[in-house]
Amino acid sequence: MPLRQHRFANAMTTSSIRLYNTFTRAKEELQPLREGVVRMYSCGPTVYRYVHVGNLRTFMMPDLLRRSLEYLGYQTEQVMNITDVGHLTDDTFDRGEDKMLVSARLEQKTPEEIAAHYTDAFMEDAAKLNIRRAGQYPHASHHIPQMIELIEKLIARGHAYETGGTVYYDIASFPAYGRLSRNTTDKLLAGARGEVDPRKRHPGDFTLWKAAGEHRMQVWPSPWGPGFPGWHIECSAMSMSLLGDRFDIHTGGADNVFPHHEAEIAQSEGVTGHRVVTCWMHGGLLMLRGARMAKSAGNFFRISELEEQGFDPLAFRYLALQAKYRTKLDFSTEGLAGADRALRQLRERVAEWARVGRTVEGGDAEVARYEARFRAALADDLDLPSAMALVAELIHSGVAPGDKAWLLRSWDAVLGLDLDREPSPTSLPEGAASILEARERARAAKDFATSDRLREELAAMGVAVTDTAEGQRWRTVEPRRP
Ligand code: AMP
Ligand code: ZN
Repeated sequence: MPLRQHRFANAMTTSSIRLYNTFTRAKEELQPLREGVVRMYSCGPTVYRYVHVGNLRTFMMPDLLRRSLEYLGYQTEQVMNITDVGHLTDDTFDRGEDKMLVSARLEQKTPEEIAAHYTDAFMEDAAKLNIRRAGQYPHASHHIPQMIELIEKLIARGHAYETGGTVYYDIASFPAYGRLSRNTTDKLLAGARGEVDPRKRHPGDFTLWKAAGEHRMQVWPSPWGPGFPGWHIECSAMSMSLLGDRFDIHTGGADNVFPHHEAEIAQSEGVTGHRVVTCWMHGGLLMLRGARMAKSAGNFFRISELEEQGFDPLAFRYLALQAKYRTKLDFSTEGLAGADRALRQLRERVAEWARVGRTVEGGDAEVARYEARFRAALADDLDLPSAMALVAELIHSGVAPGDKAWLLRSWDAVLGLDLDREPSPTSLPEGAASILEARERARAAKDFATSDRLREELAAMGVAVTDTAEGQRWRTVEPRRP
């Protein structure tokens, strides 16, 4: 039986899905604008550097959302933007540094080459985590005319003003500004740091279009002279161009709530005069030793780095599934090692149980109850930690082995953990354990010549070793030919 065909497809009415809406700070029942189809826009990566696992946690959220909704019987459409233009970090006067251009300068490539390279890398990294591809990946650089059109409309409706070739959004013209993030004008004022352009009407006014100034690359003509768009306007332009002026869900990381999504609401609703997004969903941040994992701070891991250390990339997915998507999650390699072990063990069990085959064809009551509970967890604002607890409960339950395998393989359509993958051999080839021990001793004695020689010996036996802060890690690979 194909895995995607569920025996319980109608076991639960799909109308009972509840999702947490940042806008109302409450779980709300999902009521898609088009029957049976959920249409969403996800803020995507800025492609001037590699993404880290924190970014990937945020991109995994809409993937889990789509997989869950599809499991519960909906179709989904997803648009994810690629920010390949500027990305002013800060709207205060001349402080924002154009990250694309900094990278282009440092790497001596054109902004287009930089963007293409990091877009490919992002797709590869996302695929390692079984994050399914969005239906469309619009590039900001291909939507400049749509952004200019929106800015013209905002000026015409009294929401924006031009000064010296730069256009600002006039936040005082939009009374709901601050509602999403619960920011008051006072807080916005207090938050305005550094040198503020004296031509702004309010220090919190944000850039829609920036006069080119010294910039020579990534500059476009506009009714206000040569320049480039602010970061926020791109998401208003691309979301409404591709999904229309009403769609169901908008996703991003918790750090996108303010200013990015607050500004997007002011722009999109300033132009249309009505609510555009029904539900705003935000993923919690990934933390490292108490601080937010961030490119700029340099405290981050790439997924390929963790893979080189011997971890299965999907161990990160397993780890992320253990936490509620909205909460902060502390990352550690110890935690990841635990997830890695648990995942391998789970695959071994599924393989073993699957060999037994199913005993009950029609689906007995206990199996049906497990299935219903799994669906209920998904429908309760994507409660994947509960779904994972259910996985653990099922493993230790009296359900027949073949049925356990059947349920787990079916749930994997949502979990995305490749539970069907043949478990990798975890045992060392004969003699390798003693070489590993000898190498550990050599490393402790700082005898690096010996430790390098032993690493080569191990590679020839099919054991790849990496050195980490916690000691050596090994994984079995194809034996390396001398
Ligand atoms: P960027 O490429 O910097 O625009 O970031 C891409 C996405 O990653 C944004 O939606 C951010 O909200 C998200 N993000 C950045 N840092 C973290 C983090 N430490 N944990 C989770 N998400 C993050
Ligand atoms: Zn965005």
